[in-house]
Formats: sequence, C-alpha cells, structure tokens
Amino acid sequence: MTPAKLRHLKDRLTALREEILGKVPQRIEPNRKDDAEVGGDEDEQPLNEMLQSIASNRNRNESAVLLKVDKALRKIAQKPDEYGLCEECGDDLAEARLSAMPFAELCLECQAKRDGSRGPRTRRNLYDFR
Ligand SMILES: [Zn+2]
Repeated sequence: MTPAKLRHLKDRLTALREEILGKVPQRIEPNRKDDAEVGGDEDEQPLNEMLQSIASNRNRNESAVLLKVDKALRKIAQKPDEYGLCEECGDDLAEARLSAMPFAELCLECQAKRDGSRGPRTRRNLYDFR
C-alpha cells in the first residue's frame, strides 16, 4: 500500500467516523458535529452510498461499524504496515474491498468462513491457509 493510498483511506475512515458520530443522537462530542459536514470532495458520493447502505440496516450496525472504524484508524496510526492485511490469513485485502469498506478486517475468504461458522470458533492452524 502506498502512503498516498493509506492517507486516502484514512481520510475516508475519518469522514465515516464523523458521519456516524454526527448522526448518533447521543452525548458523544456534540461539538464535533460541525466537522462532520462533508464538503463536495470527490469521495462524497461513494461515502454517501456506503452510509446509505449502512443506514438501510436501520442503524443497528452503526456502533459496530464505528468500532471497526476506530480500530482501523488506530491500526493506521500505530501499525500502518498491518493495515490493509487480512487479520486472519495476512493476505492483502482486495483494493475494491478496502475501497468499499476501509475498515474491513478480513479478506473475503476469511470473512465468508467466519460468517459461515456460527458455532464455536475453530481456529485453524496458522499455516493451514493453503
Ligand atoms: Zn484472509
């Protein structure tokens, strides 16, 4: 991942975070709301689409997304090398996936695996990813 791309995704995450915080009717830093006003930059559209799809889930996922956004931002700040890698298998996340969900933690494959097994999580051997 190039520094420019990383910064770009970080901006998206920050904007997403502000949007979510701005929409949540809680006592979370009410003064931040003004900062959430996204200008007319080129990312507004995809961001809005993403937020609409989040909103269509009746906001119930917002706090979960917010946690992931915070986590991703922390990772960018502390371990930028690990951002964009699957937390399960360590592969690069697909660019399209990151661009749609800059807070994604898993690659599609691992996400599918995790979603598929609702039972007790059986973690496979670390080297058993082939
Ligand atoms: Zn993976």
